[in-house]
Amino acid sequence: MLELRPGCECCNTDLPADSGEALICSFECTFCAPCAEKMDMRCPNCGGELVRRPRRAAEKWVNNPASITRVFKPQGCA
Ligand SMILES: [Zn+2]
Ligand SMILES: [Zn+2]
Repeated sequence: MLELRPGCECCNTDLPADSGEALICSFECTFCAPCAEKMDMRCPNCGGELVRRPRRAAEKWVNNPASITRVFKPQGCA
């Protein structure tokens, strides 16, 4: 199951579980759309491709809540 991290690693923009603007790599490094585009749709951590994160249907959140662990790199992404 996806963690659905709550923010972009580069700029800390909020990316709620129902956001259509979130992109993830296979390790679930999570970025907003503008940052992902700047990075050429490649994850700066693992070099993998970034794809749009699917949204989780609201009725599933009760038993499968999104992660509240924010991963943020204050130095930003290259
Ligand atoms: Zn961002
Ligand atoms: Zn990655």
